[in-house]
Amino acid sequence: MRWSESPDLPDDSNEEDEPTMTASREQSVINGHEGAAEAPAVRNYVGGRWVESDATRFVDVRNPATDQLIARTPLGSAADVDRAVQAALKAFPAWRRTPPVNRVKPLWKLKNLLEQHQDDLARMITREHGKTFDESRNSVRRAIDNVDLAFGIPDRMMGTSLEDIAAGIDCHVVRQPLGVFAAITPFNFPSMVPMWFLPHAIACGNTFIVKPSERVPLSQVMMFELMHECGFPEGVVNLVNGAKDVVDGILDHPGIAGVSFVGSSPVAHYVYSRGAEKGKRVQALGGAKNFVVVMPDADLDRAAAISTESCFGCAGERCLANPVVVAVGDAYTAIRDRLVEQIKKLKVGDGQDAGVTMGPVITRQHREKIIGYIEKGVAEGAKLLLDGRGYKDAKNPNGYFLGPTLFEEVTPDMVIAREEIFGPVLCLVRAKDFDDAVSIVTRHELGNASSIFTSSGKWAREYRYRVEPSMLGVNIGVAAPMAFFPFGGSKGSFFGDLKAHGHDSIEFYTDKKVAITRWF
Ligand code: NAD
Repeated sequence: MRWSESPDLPDDSNEEDEPTMTASREQSVINGHEGAAEAPAVRNYVGGRWVESDATRFVDVRNPATDQLIARTPLGSAADVDRAVQAALKAFPAWRRTPPVNRVKPLWKLKNLLEQHQDDLARMITREHGKTFDESRNSVRRAIDNVDLAFGIPDRMMGTSLEDIAAGIDCHVVRQPLGVFAAITPFNFPSMVPMWFLPHAIACGNTFIVKPSERVPLSQVMMFELMHECGFPEGVVNLVNGAKDVVDGILDHPGIAGVSFVGSSPVAHYVYSRGAEKGKRVQALGGAKNFVVVMPDADLDRAAAISTESCFGCAGERCLANPVVVAVGDAYTAIRDRLVEQIKKLKVGDGQDAGVTMGPVITRQHREKIIGYIEKGVAEGAKLLLDGRGYKDAKNPNGYFLGPTLFEEVTPDMVIAREEIFGPVLCLVRAKDFDDAVSIVTRHELGNASSIFTSSGKWAREYRYRVEPSMLGVNIGVAAPMAFFPFGGSKGSFFGDLKAHGHDSIEFYTDKKVAITRWF
């Protein structure tokens, strides 16, 4: 789907499900509630307390490996948002006045608790999302890295000054927090993506609201249970569950100064436009269709192994995955044969089981959508070398599993090479030379990430210089910037100017006030 041409935004998920009310909301997420006869609805965290949403409609949350109902997400409303905004506004003046060195103290505690509960969180992510335990664990590590980075706020948010800009007149630039910020996040990294934003925003002196994906609310509830133990003043951190109505409530609320969004491009574009129209700061990270170029001089064994991990890690549900391999000249046959060999080594199954390297996809509907893309590829004339549609999981016959799929003889204009499939499907495309490969990459309307495999510094340098995706790998399959670097793409993959984490977070979450001073 082209973000720029799509009049229909993705709907709230599970719209077709019957709205359900639930009774028990007592059980702690940390204790877990898989297997409960009736799965509890998750609660919001507002003003330092766990509160129920007003919602009358709920989204079922199912373990993708087993199809078991594990929770329900309330489809909250603008009123739920308003309660969180009021709490965050109330907390803001005192939090802003708290010295930065003291604002980071609850974050120290959070880091310790996240490390202590890293495995609990990873198990929860695997249960609600499906990715393997190791993948979940690594994503929690990335969340912790962001908390770590925020410790440096007393230094990182310093201003600048210059004496005697005219005789006896000094100029000081101070960075000030702006008020209440919110983050709206996607399903694919449930604990990590909110942490790209929250630690930096609050360390800068803002107060914060997280709106996680309605498909994976549980690990965020667990994160907030941990935050509850850290000593944040009431209202500094808040959690509101829901889908489109909550997003619209955030975008329209006059009490919110800015919004950080991560998700698909049509929704990113919508959030950016609507939020900006209401005068908010907005950074909106969108979808991806990433290409990896393999030059004939590359180490092809490594290129095949790394590209396989890049495409099929997290079952392809990763914005930094490279699901299109563009093989230049003679590299084509050699990389194709090696990819087949590598992909056959993947072990599909429940992400909690040892040895499994690829879990299920997020929902039954998403599995059907991916199958639809595979059918489309066949109909378009691409050659199916490995077909994941027939995979049956003996242990969990109801899970949303797909085997890995590999297409060859894909052309850049085919739907499977153009649209974001967000599943375990790899397309192999031919390029006659380096320029042809660059043109395939630059023609695409999205620009999140890309990689090149080569042993030539000249090709690597030329590639970095000419292609637009802002996260670039040279002999790297997943070019994921660490917390201290900016994260975000270009073209239709990003709307805004300041990216996630790194120094951009300080720019995004503070205003630069210039004070010009003269004393008589
Ligand atoms: P999504 O766009 O469906 O949902 C993201 C958020 O937007 C969720 O919180 C959801 O509740 C909300 N939302 C969904 N539909 C909405 C609507 N019509 N109006 C208002 N809000 C709406 O994305 P997803 O399926 O959860 O996540 C996968 C997408 O996220 C992929 O496109 C992936 O590439 C992208 N992603 C991008 C990055 C990045 O860094 N650029 C990182 C992770 C994921």
